[in-house]
This record gives sequence, structure tokens and C-alpha cells, in this order.
Amino acid sequence: MTHEHIRLTGARQHNLKNLDLTVPRRAITAFTGVSGSGKTSLVFDTIAAEAQRQLNETFPPFVRNRLPSYGRPEVDMIEDLSPVVVINQRRLGGNARSTVGTITDIYTLLRLLFSRASEPYVGESTAFSFNEPAGMCPRCSGIGMVVTPDIDSFLDLDRSLEDGAILLPGFGNKANTKKYWYRQYAESGLFDPAKPLRAWPVRLREALIHGVPGKQEGLLEHFTRIYLHAEGEMSARKQAVVERFTTSVVCPDCAGERLNEAARSARVAGHTITECARMEITDLIPVVRTVTEPATKPVVDSLVERLEAVEGIGLGYLDLARATSTLSGGESQRIKMVRHLGSSLTEMLYVFDEPSIGLHPRDVERLTALLRGLRDKGNTILVVEHDPDVVAIADHVVDLGPGAGVDGGEVVFQGDVAGLARADTVTGRAMRARTEGRADPRPPHGRLRVAGAGRHNLRDLDVDVPIGVLTAITGVAGSGKSSLVTVLLEQHPGTVVDQSAIATSRRSTILTYTGMADPIRRMFARAGGVSASLFSANSRGACPDCRGLGVVYTDLAFMEGVAAVCGTCHGRRFTEEVLEYTVGGHSIADVLDLTVAEARAVFDDPALTPTLVALADVGLGYLTLGQPLSTLSGGEAQRLKLAGELRNRPEGGLYVLDEPTTGLHPADIGRLGGILDRLVDAGNTVVVVEHNLDVVRTADWVIDIGPDAGQHGGRVMFTGPPADLAADPHSITAEYLRRQAR
Ligand code: ADP
Ligand code: ADP
Ligand code: ZN
Ligand code: ZN
Repeated sequence: MTHEHIRLTGARQHNLKNLDLTVPRRAITAFTGVSGSGKTSLVFDTIAAEAQRQLNETFPPFVRNRLPSYGRPEVDMIEDLSPVVVINQRRLGGNARSTVGTITDIYTLLRLLFSRASEPYVGESTAFSFNEPAGMCPRCSGIGMVVTPDIDSFLDLDRSLEDGAILLPGFGNKANTKKYWYRQYAESGLFDPAKPLRAWPVRLREALIHGVPGKQEGLLEHFTRIYLHAEGEMSARKQAVVERFTTSVVCPDCAGERLNEAARSARVAGHTITECARMEITDLIPVVRTVTEPATKPVVDSLVERLEAVEGIGLGYLDLARATSTLSGGESQRIKMVRHLGSSLTEMLYVFDEPSIGLHPRDVERLTALLRGLRDKGNTILVVEHDPDVVAIADHVVDLGPGAGVDGGEVVFQGDVAGLARADTVTGRAMRARTEGRADPRPPHGRLRVAGAGRHNLRDLDVDVPIGVLTAITGVAGSGKSSLVTVLLEQHPGTVVDQSAIATSRRSTILTYTGMADPIRRMFARAGGVSASLFSANSRGACPDCRGLGVVYTDLAFMEGVAAVCGTCHGRRFTEEVLEYTVGGHSIADVLDLTVAEARAVFDDPALTPTLVALADVGLGYLTLGQPLSTLSGGEAQRLKLAGELRNRPEGGLYVLDEPTTGLHPADIGRLGGILDRLVDAGNTVVVVEHNLDVVRTADWVIDIGPDAGQHGGRVMFTGPPADLAADPHSITAEYLRRQAR
């Protein structure tokens, strides 16, 4: 018997209303619905979590005990699941050795090619690996950087040894003569411990640093032995010392190429492996193709296939040497995809989280081709997505709603895309709606000049950004939009909302970040006649086991850390005693579980209402007050900052937003547009990097960067009102504007 569907019975995770659902296998299913309707709860927290849990159950106890334990999701039964691969937006952090080439395994293939076909012939593929002793530069151990002791920072020349002239830890001064190391130097008989170092003869200062053979260890040797050549794991304290007393410079032996001499000089098709790794992938493909020896054909074929997959996903502008830590969230997600595209596994379950983020409509087209390819290999694809162009390729759609939070959690439509377009649901209606362009763009009050921008792929670019209007910066992924914005901000630092992460600790929540925590604690204090601090998660009122976090974190060395609900307070964060106090029937834990929208109904208080309204305005009404900021997506964090700005009623500022529509349902995009308009009308300059053509159409001005990505981008293709862009014959963005208008 073949199993054609994944069958769920009684899904109740978070707001899901006891759902029964069947999802076709070997097909693409899109999950739609407003923010907070339950898409994540269903797809990630129920289906993917259960698939992962069942997979873990198959391991022997020895292995299982070393894996994070996944709680059983709130669901009665899920049948016919497959092993799951979750491809989310979490950035590929990674250490200094992690690059686009290593993480996609493409560098392994490139090494193989060099070991088979290079001149001079070398033989072993490990001879080209900067992670292996056979290939790594011996000087920097394959890091490309060397840490050099910064001798000047060891000493304070204006002090004597007695006054603590040696700044390295463990030395001390005269008042602290018990220090062993201090005595080794001050009482060696070689130096005058009372005289400032500056007054010493150069010879003695040299002796202090470099030592006297057979008599005295120099400080340099001492530092190197204790801090740089120490065996085993380095403690955080030692790490801090190393950072303070050293500088990192590009390795003088390999000039950052990470490889030893032999590996650096071998060539294939006239290029060294480093040259290949630093070439844009688009340019590397033809180079690899010129290798035609029959013995290398299988390697060349797989290499070209992988490189073309990267190009196909719209990342041909990257190079293999690019550190994964510098990739954006969207780029990280697509790079993770490439790893799986090369895999020959079938019957897998792939789960994607808004894969269209950061993608121009042109790139979305490429992405959908890849999703189809993955399906056609025999896999099941689940994708949470708002972009109509991605939803359009789904074989099946599950639309959740009707609203968010408690008003959501039901399947309001299920069927094909044509059916969704006719459905009387928020998503269906949004699909039918047409956004009109702005009839008459607002006139600018002046111009912000960006002059001589040269960051990344921009070449001496000059462009004016109009003041007091809404400008959209468009262009395919990698064309140079973020680079331009970075230069704009450097040349015109202003009041800026950008996507840089909100500085957070695990303790920050919506409540603490927005300043609503204090008024709420005071309400509880007044009602109960006790101190307000009792209701802080940092106080003695907090659960002692999770210290007010509600969850307990386990950090794992080899995978992402995991959070488990605290067994003592069951996620309630406070002690039983504190939970006795209520306001309007709600304990402090209940309040933390309220959504912003619910809180508006519960609290009618001038200290809270404006903040709650601002949060709802930016489309965050579904967040709970106690939600940790660390769990917010980039788009949510950005809108949270925007809400803070709105409350302050700013004027005359410069707002730069990177894809503010990220994560927003089409029905909420119109409202976001309204907020941007309000900012402009209050006298601010708003610049958005945006792919959503509805937003582009309602801007006053467009700056289109292109024509393509990387070296093939970085130029201004068009500036002017959006209505004129559509007529531009050279811009890729214009082509899609025209298509959508049809
Ligand atoms: P979507 O993915 O459609 O935006 P979610 O599944 O994230 O929606 O959220 C659905 C509901 O479940 C919301 O009311 C949200 O506040 C709630 N929710 C989400 N995550 C959690 C959680 N970890 N704990 C409790 N409630 C949650
Ligand atoms: P966009 O914002 O249009 O997607 P970017 O400005 O991010 O484009 O990128 C433009 C070019 O600059 C691309 O070739 C990209 O690979 C390169 N680039 C971006 N960030 C970095 C970085 N941190 N290090 C090296 N190159 C970068
Ligand atoms: Zn080196
Ligand atoms: Zn607890």
C-alpha cells in the first residue's frame, strides 16, 4: 500500500483548534494566513517537531541521551511522516573556517579537481584543504590570520615594576608582592624595580621583553607559553586576555589564502585554487568547464551541477571564499537549500520558512524552479509563505485563520491555488485586491547626496535620495542595495531604524523592551499592596529554577542550543505566591501570555494604550507581551523598533528599512504602507529596500540598482517615480512591474 498523505489528527499546539488535516506527499503545500494565525505552530512546532522526535526515537538510547529532547507536540496522531529537513532563516553563524565553499561541499569538489588536474600535479585532495594538516598554511593553521602579541600593550612605560608596569594578568605590583610572577621579574636582580621603565636603558627593556638566555624568561615567551600555546580549551577569561594583548593580522606567509606553498601555487586552467575560490560563482563555472581531461569528467560534472544550483538560486554573485558569517538570513537559507539539492535522498520532508525573503521577483522565479525540482525528486515540500508568486506554484494550499491568536488556528480554506483566489478568507481577498500606484508623488524638500560610494560591488556611485518622501530601492539580490544603504547611513547618520538586531538578553521581552513592564508591575503592586519589584523576572518573586525565564537552556557544542519548558514553574516564570496576585482576574503570568491585541481589551490605561496601539499598527498585534525578543524574526524586530519610533512622534528624521514587508501577510502590507505614509507626512525621509511591487508602486521615488548581481550589478539603472520605471527598457525590476500590471 502506498501512503499518499501525511495525516494529522487533533492538532492543538498553541492556538490550533483541534485540527484534522491531510497533506499530500510528493507535492508542494503552501501554508498561508495572517501573522499569528498558526502557520508556524502547525508546520514547524507540530509536523516538523514530531518528525524530528520520531526520528530521534529510532536512535539507540546512548545517542538519544545526547540529543536535545523534543517535547511531544500537542497532537493526537500524525501518520506517514518522513525524515524532516527544516530550512529556516537562522543565519549560518559559523567559525572563521566556515565559508560558502565549505558549507555547500563545493570546495571539497574543487579540491578534488585540483588534486586530479592541477599543474604541478599534487595527488591528494587533502593537499588543498585548509582544514587539513596536508594543505593548511603552517604559519596560521589555515585560518588566514595570525594572532601576534602586541608587545606595546604589555607595559606601561611611565610606571616602575613596583607600581605595576607589567600589565599582563598575574603580575601585580609591590603592594601585591605575593604574586609569583611579579617576584620572578622584580626580584631577579636584573632590573631596578623602583624606576619607571621609560628611564631604563633600552638594553634592559629588551631583556624584560625578550629575556636573557639561561637566566630570565622574557615576557613575550611567558605570554606565548601561557596564552597562545596553551593546550586544550581556552577559557573565556584567557580569551579576553588574548584579545587585549594581541592583534590579528592577515597571515604574512599565505596572505590570507590559508593554504601552504604547494597548494597555493598549483593551477587548473591557469588559475590557483584561491583565485577560483575568490571568483564570483557565475565566473567560476566557465573556468571549470574548460577542464576536459576524461579522468576528471565526473568531478567537473558534479562541480558544475553544484555551482549552477547556487547560481540558479540567485546566489551566483557570491564567491566560495565568502565567510558564512557575513551572509544575510535569506542568503543563509538559500545556501542551506543548495546543500540539499545536491542530495540524492528522496521521500524526505522539507520545511521552508518564507523562502522568498530578500528576493526580487526575478529571483523568486528561480527559487520556485528549485522547489519544484526538489518535489520532482520525490520529496514532500511544506512552505510557509506570503509571496503570491511562491503560493502560485503550490499543488495544495492550507489557509489558516480566520484571524490571529485565539481568533485563528482553524483551516479556513484547503484546496488548489485557483480555489484560494476565489475563497472568502483574508488571504483570498488579499489575492484579489489590486494596489493602485500613487497618483501624484509627493514633492521632495531637498536631496541627500550619496557621493563616490565604493562599498563591495558599487563603483564610485553617485546618487541623490530625495528628502521628505518615500523612496524604494530596488534591484535583484546581490545588486548592491544594502551596500548603497550602508553608505547612505555613513554619509548621513540620522534617526535610523534598520534591521540590525535589537540588543537583547534572554530576559528581554516585548514588555520590557517597550517600557510597559513598569506600569504593569505598579498596577499589580497597587492591587496587592506589595512591592512592584516582586513582579519582575529578575526578583525574588521569580521561579528559582529558571530564574524567571520560564525555560531552561541547554547549550550544545555541536548544534543549536535547545530550550525546554521549566519543570518547576511550567513556564509560568514566577513563584506560586506571586501568581496569587491578580489584576482584573489576571495573574502576572497570565498577563505575559496575553497578545498585544488582547491586552488592549484588558488594560485601558494611558501608560499602556499608545504603545499597544503602535504595536498593533505595525502588524504585531499577535505577539504575546512576554515573548522573548530573541524569538522574533528580523522583520518582526524591525517593526518593533518602528513601533517605538511611532510612539515618539518623530519629525525630520531619516528612516531606512530593509524589507519591512518581511513576514507580513498581504492584508497587512497595506497597513504598513499607511504607517510609512504617516512618517513621511510628519516630515521624515523614508527609504525602504523592498521587493514587494505593491510597495514599490506606492513609493514617491525609486532608485533601481543593477543591472544584475555582484560584479554585474552596482550601477544605478533608474531614478524617478515608479510610474516611469515600468517604461524603462533596461531594468529587470521594470520587466516585472509590467508583467504584474498585465
Ligand atoms: P503564524 O506562524 O501564523 O504567524 P504562530 O503559529 O506563530 O502563527 O502563532 C499562532 C498563535 O500561537 C499566536 O497566538 C502565538 O502568540 C501563539 N504562539 C506561538 N508560539 C508560541 C509559544 N512558543 N508559546 C505560546 N504561544 C505561542
Ligand atoms: P543586495 O542588498 O542588493 O542584495 P548587497 O549590497 O548585499 O546586495 O551585495 C552587493 C555585492 O556585495 C554582492 O556581490 C555581495 O556578495 C557583496 N557583499 C555584500 N556584503 C559583503 C561582505 N560582507 N563581504 C564581501 N562582500 C559582500
Ligand atoms: Zn597562513
Ligand atoms: Zn521556572
